[in-house]
Amino acid sequence: MSQKRPHPTTGEEKVKKKKPEEEKKQQDKAMASSSDHPVFCDICDEGKEKAVKSCLMCHISYCETHLEKHRSNPHQKKHKLINAVENLQDYICQKHGRPMERFCRDDQTCVCLSCTEGEHRTHNTVPLEEESQKKKVKKFKLNTLTKLYNLIRKTNWLLLVIF
Ligand SMILES: [Zn+2]
Ligand SMILES: [Zn+2]
Ligand SMILES: [Zn+2]
Ligand SMILES: [Zn+2]
Repeated sequence: MSQKRPHPTTGEEKVKKKKPEEEKKQQDKAMASSSDHPVFCDICDEGKEKAVKSCLMCHISYCETHLEKHRSNPHQKKHKLINAVENLQDYICQKHGRPMERFCRDDQTCVCLSCTEGEHRTHNTVPLEEESQKKKVKKFKLNTLTKLYNLIRKTNWLLLVIF
């Protein structure tokens, strides 16, 4: 006596389709590449260590372990080491591929030894160390200004959207 009712199957299956969010990874990457990013050792293969020094002769940044190895090599003892920097290329002369060890006061630019023997021969050049303190301050100010400028640009953009 039982009435068998066919179960009404609701064929309405809502397939939730998530829109693949277009992650602008490249943009993020570009935005994330600020100057306070840690520099990593170029020698370490796995679990990269933070670099402590960059060698202007090898064009490589070293962690403490690899720096010791670098230092213990007599051939590399004379290599010019600077505090680890991300943009090592900026410290290497584009013309001669040599480390920029001197600062040309006339041109307010870093120069390599080949430069000082060449077109900057008559200029007033000083060892980079002498100028580094001043430069650090300058660079810091510049970085801060750039950040501020970017911030203002972003904010301006936001304001434009809002109003
Ligand atoms: Zn290393
Ligand atoms: Zn080196
Ligand atoms: Zn040069
Ligand atoms: Zn010069």
